[in-house]
Amino acid sequence: MSKKTLTGKHQYAEFKNETVADRVKKCVDLRDSTDITDKHIKLSYGNRKTGSLVPSVSLIPVADCGHCAMCARGCYAVRAILCYPESREALANNSAIAHKDRKRFFVEVDAALKFLRFFRFFVSGDILDRDFLDGMVRVAENNPHCQILAFSKEHEIINGYLDEHGCFPSNLHIILSGWRGDTNVNRHNLPVSSPVWKDGSQSCMVTGKAHWCQGNCTECAKINEGCWAAGPGDTILFEAH
Ligand code: SF4
Repeated sequence: MSKKTLTGKHQYAEFKNETVADRVKKCVDLRDSTDITDKHIKLSYGNRKTGSLVPSVSLIPVADCGHCAMCARGCYAVRAILCYPESREALANNSAIAHKDRKRFFVEVDAALKFLRFFRFFVSGDILDRDFLDGMVRVAENNPHCQILAFSKEHEIINGYLDEHGCFPSNLHIILSGWRGDTNVNRHNLPVSSPVWKDGSQSCMVTGKAHWCQGNCTECAKINEGCWAAGPGDTILFEAH
């Protein structure tokens, strides 16, 4: 991983709680009114962060994140994704299927993975519950040719799975997502990620070897760097944005 230092050009910003609630509510209302009878999950191709080789499936930020009390006001997805009607519609659609017909959600993810070399869960949203994590593991096992990346703040669901099973399939790269002031537990020594704020503060989980995120998962995938190659306890650092 090439070295990087703080550029000072952070794009991090925080909304008022009311603004976050308003944006999220619009998407949740759309989800709740969605008839999923003829709907299918929508993958995002060519997202600015993931690049052209790493399609992703996302859920609704905040509403589908169980542990975002600390980060909701500064959520990139609330600021930069929910304001676009097409993106809002895709997130509401995916969330509706994930909540109302979980089996269909994973059957469709599984079918998509048959043709993919790389995939990412959650540019927004998070693991909904243990059944959802089991679905992620299942599709990873069914598609060993596909490298799958997921950032998550659902540390207890993840720790609970690892308490029982010991490890994830080798093609499922789970990164525990940290935040300033968090108190997360990483008892299985998974790779972690942390924003770095202008004052240099980071998540308290930061230990071990650090990789600076270069901002495009496709570029990392091409050379097997960054999260794709992160070892136990490694940290992915990125400028808060
Ligand atoms: S380190 Fe690379 S793979 Fe990980 S989030 Fe950053 S760009 Fe994506």
